[in-house]
Amino acid sequence: MTNQILKCLKCDKYTLEEDCSICSNKCVSTKPAKFRHDDKYGFYRLLYKKKTMN
Ligand SMILES: [Zn+2]
Repeated sequence: MTNQILKCLKCDKYTLEEDCSICSNKCVSTKPAKFRHDDKYGFYRLLYKKKTMN
């Protein structure tokens, strides 16, 4: 059990279990792609902030 939302690609269902309760397939995190995207902009925002504030 994790506190992140996982997805079984086989069943196309969202779950909190690491292993799908229906097919026992390994579930994958749905977050990484979106987080990378957000982090990228967060990083540049931080850089910009530092540049303008100093
Ligand atoms: Zn499944």
